[in-house]
Amino acid sequence: MEQHSHITVRGLTHVYGVDGTALTALDGVDFEARRGEFVSVIGPSGGGKTTLLKVIGGLLQPTSGIVVIDGASPEDAQLLKRIGFVFQEPALLPWKTMTQNVRLPMEINHGKTPPDIGATGRLIEMVGLDEFRDYYPHQLSGGMRQRVAFARALVTDPDVLLMDEPLGSLDEITRTSMRYELLKVWEALPKTIVLITHSIAEAVMMSDRVVVLSSRPGRVVGEVSIDLPRPREEALERAPEFLERADRVKELLALGAKRTTTAGRARAGS
Ligand code: ADP
Ligand code: MG
Repeated sequence: MEQHSHITVRGLTHVYGVDGTALTALDGVDFEARRGEFVSVIGPSGGGKTTLLKVIGGLLQPTSGIVVIDGASPEDAQLLKRIGFVFQEPALLPWKTMTQNVRLPMEINHGKTPPDIGATGRLIEMVGLDEFRDYYPHQLSGGMRQRVAFARALVTDPDVLLMDEPLGSLDEITRTSMRYELLKVWEALPKTIVLITHSIAEAVMMSDRVVVLSSRPGRVVGEVSIDLPRPREEALERAPEFLERADRVKELLALGAKRTTTAGRARAGS
């Protein structure tokens, strides 16, 4: 694996303006992902995680700071279809079949990439939806719709995959089994992945590294290297080496919550 940075984030600060009031979502966030690395970003709700992912993906211009993806700006990386996105809600077009939804990024690619029907088929197989190629979104379960979203994110063969709580809208049972399916997909198709999650187990199980964000404004509290062998199986969740890393993430989350509470009190008292 190449050791230099694929995604570099430096001094990222983002301030939203709401009714003339400034709301700082991110404050001086630095982080990196090496090529082929799986990095999770975990933090409390409202801590700026979605904002961070949108900035990395070139969907939002930050107030200050820089993001570089393979030497390019996120906007250029996105135009070149180097980035795949998966959001919490799959957002499929209801009038298109599953296969057509998967192929959507190719169709809106203005003919830059020649259509490769075979590749689409392989992706659909990989996410386990081979029998449902001609189904419409309303004929699929929530977990299946999210698998369509994974296949769609991969259809342009991007080198970066950005996922914002992709399993967040699923029930607990589906969520856990999808975690292992997703792991298998990733282990077969190594990409540089940034996964936003608020599940400690998910972050530790899937990642090479977990970056912990504080509560708002989001700052990096610290990171935990998940130097556990792959492929990873469900049984690992009960192993001491897994639990020890999960505890470290938990401690950093607690530290991030405390820091902001203190700052909040200081502000309230001034
Ligand atoms: P997270 O994904 O960690 O829950 P977000 O990045 O969605 O956090 O939001 C961080 C903060 O920024 C929240 O306080 C949220 O209300 C605020 N925020 C998010 N999007 C906008 C927006 N478009 N305009 C104004 N404030 C926003
Ligand atoms: Mg969010």
